[in-house]
Amino acid sequence: MISLCGDETMDYELGIIGAGPAGYAASIYAVRAGVQTALFDTHAGGGLASIAPNIENYPGFSSITGADLLEKMKDHAKVYVDFHEYEQIISIDKKEDGFILKTAEEKHYQVAAIIIATGTNHRRLHAEGAEQLQGKGISYCATCDGFFFRDKTVAVVGGGNSALIEAVYLKQIGCKTVYLIHRRDKLRAEDAYEHDAKEADVTFLLNKVIRRINGDQQVESIELEDTTNGEMKTITVDGVFISIGVIPQNDLAKQLDVALDDQGYIKVDCHMRTSVPHVYAAGDITGGLRQVITAAAEGAIAGLISTEAVGKQYPY
Ligand code: NAP
Repeated sequence: MISLCGDETMDYELGIIGAGPAGYAASIYAVRAGVQTALFDTHAGGGLASIAPNIENYPGFSSITGADLLEKMKDHAKVYVDFHEYEQIISIDKKEDGFILKTAEEKHYQVAAIIIATGTNHRRLHAEGAEQLQGKGISYCATCDGFFFRDKTVAVVGGGNSALIEAVYLKQIGCKTVYLIHRRDKLRAEDAYEHDAKEADVTFLLNKVIRRINGDQQVESIELEDTTNGEMKTITVDGVFISIGVIPQNDLAKQLDVALDDQGYIKVDCHMRTSVPHVYAAGDITGGLRQVITAAAEGAIAGLISTEAVGKQYPY
């Protein structure tokens, strides 16, 4: 790290924004390729994968919590990279010879290249009552909040992998009844997760949409509409876990005029180059499979290709 001018501007060759699987892998590969690198994260790192109750398809670990896997990645990355945790990059200025990253605390970092690995965040449910009861029985994280619902009845909303995994997890930790509420008759989740949910005795409520969540100080019930015939039904629940997908965290990419696809994910070539020279992207922010393994792989590619931005080479 080089202090530039006695003010708060510091110099790195590469700034990686976002410390999930992609950011950690990019850090390891970039630094080992000789690129002076800083890794920034708004929080302590880990990203959305770190709240996954269970990961069963990351090679080398037949079953591991997201928190444990991401902690291992963090420890590994910290062997190499300058990790600026709790330093949120809020804006990026493009200069002739690089970029200035500005943090929420008004620190400035000059870098020659950037890897955007900002991932995704939860899509919010816009049912009536959902905002008011947030934190009062409505949760976006089964791993974080499931414990409070042991011996209770909960609903999980969504038909994707995450919803199914969370439903099984909630059953496993002792929820009495777990409803899986999905708006269609066909799940989006992989068959293996559907199988696990059936084995775990999760109760499927298909073709149902939550119209309203009732409760005063705490969630008490949900009003469901049957999408096939419009019939309404109220069921009693103590908690609602919302798992209806993710939205890309693309604010910084937009500031740089990086090309996005129609869903807001960053467009990259096979080397993780974006439409803006010396700006690369990796992980869930590029869309696609959105697996821990693919995020890490993209991070590795981006970390290595970033050498081109600083006049270094690695053996392709
Ligand atoms: P997802 O695959 O996008 O599924 C979101 C689910 O929520 C879909 O079933 C969708 O319904 C439903 N949904 C969306 N908006 C809704 C709304 N307003 N109201 C009600 N339901 C709504 O999201 P995810 O499960 O969070 O997974 C995100 C990504 O991570 C995916 O690519 C997934 O494969 C990956 N992932 C992988 C694993 C793994 O392999 N181990 C684990 C977790 C996540 P429709 O089906 O009708 O669209």
